[in-house]
Amino acid sequence: MRILVTGGAGFLGSHLCDRLLKDGHEVVCLDNLFTGRKTNIAHLLAHPAFEFVRHDVIDPFKFEVEQIYNLACPASPPHYQFNPIKTTKTSVMGAINCLGLAKRVKARVFQASTSEVYGDPAVHPQPESYWGNVNPIGRRSCYDEGKRCAETLFFDYHRENKVDIRVVRIFNTYGPRMHPNDGRVVSNFIMQALKGEDLTVYGDGLQTRSFCYVDDLIEGFVRMMHQTATVGPINLGNPGEFTMLQLAELTLRLVGGKSRIVHKPLPADDPKQRRPDITLARNIMQWEPAVPLEAGLQRTIDYFKTQV
Ligand code: NAD
Ligand code: UDP
Repeated sequence: MRILVTGGAGFLGSHLCDRLLKDGHEVVCLDNLFTGRKTNIAHLLAHPAFEFVRHDVIDPFKFEVEQIYNLACPASPPHYQFNPIKTTKTSVMGAINCLGLAKRVKARVFQASTSEVYGDPAVHPQPESYWGNVNPIGRRSCYDEGKRCAETLFFDYHRENKVDIRVVRIFNTYGPRMHPNDGRVVSNFIMQALKGEDLTVYGDGLQTRSFCYVDDLIEGFVRMMHQTATVGPINLGNPGEFTMLQLAELTLRLVGGKSRIVHKPLPADDPKQRRPDITLARNIMQWEPAVPLEAGLQRTIDYFKTQV
């Protein structure tokens, strides 16, 4: 198949391009390189089935493709808050442009949604049926509400125009090719530990997250796109739940060195807990993460050692 990946030069997008090429597809990678990097796809540029197009998803685009994966959107809080109006435009107009193209060329279209649609969840763990607890006017809203509106658009195009959609809600995912300075907790802790700096735990560090290794997630993407039992939304993430203090301690143990843990103020609207209920993904796609946190962190540390 010929497949369009928006955001294909980013962390997740570049791993997805690798996988799709390995599976024998042709890949068009569209990215404006806001948070993505050419180094993420440098090894693919000479591949005969790979094409890179520098373009912004808020401007219309046309490609003759059979599938579209829409991943274009900054994902780390510092990056998506850098230009919040642009973040909302990227989510909403990017979704409209992908859906319009999918409708025209009759492509199956995949949306990389997020656990952020659950906000600071009052239900734990979060099943897909939970509607969320989201602040519509806070610092995280450009991302959370942008992604919620994108889901709305996906389901309206599906109901109104019979567009063949797939929607996944991704929980925190980490691995090689995360941007070393993107401000997310895994990359921050590893880079700080490798440089011998103190690890910055925000708040008391008792807030929880669930961390999925990138290879497990990409397998989930591909299974979701192949199956026909559901259009989603479906949670993809690792149900192991850790406090940020536990993550900091594990990172220190694996990296070694003299770094200490220091506390910094907790950002506004920071969700207190997050863990996916992946019953649906287990039942429908026989999907479940295989890489434990310690093993995934070690692989990620090995990658970041090449970046310092
Ligand atoms: P990333 O920042 O590495 O990748 C995003 C990519 O989108 C980058 O290459 C960036 O340059 C590109 N992009 C941003 N705005 C664009 C625009 N207007 N036009 C074209 N390209 C644009 O982040 P990631 O972690 O790889 O996230 C990929 C997708 O997965 C995002 O949609 C994100 O919301 C979603 N997601 C990721 C996680 C996670 O933990 N990694 C969790 C939930 C959802
Ligand atoms: N966090 C932290 N130190 C950091 C970066 C993040 O303690 O240097 C915390 C942050 O407050 C949040 C958790 O780690 O509670 C996950 O943050 P991240 O930005 O990675 O993702 P998100 O909040 O979107 O899940």
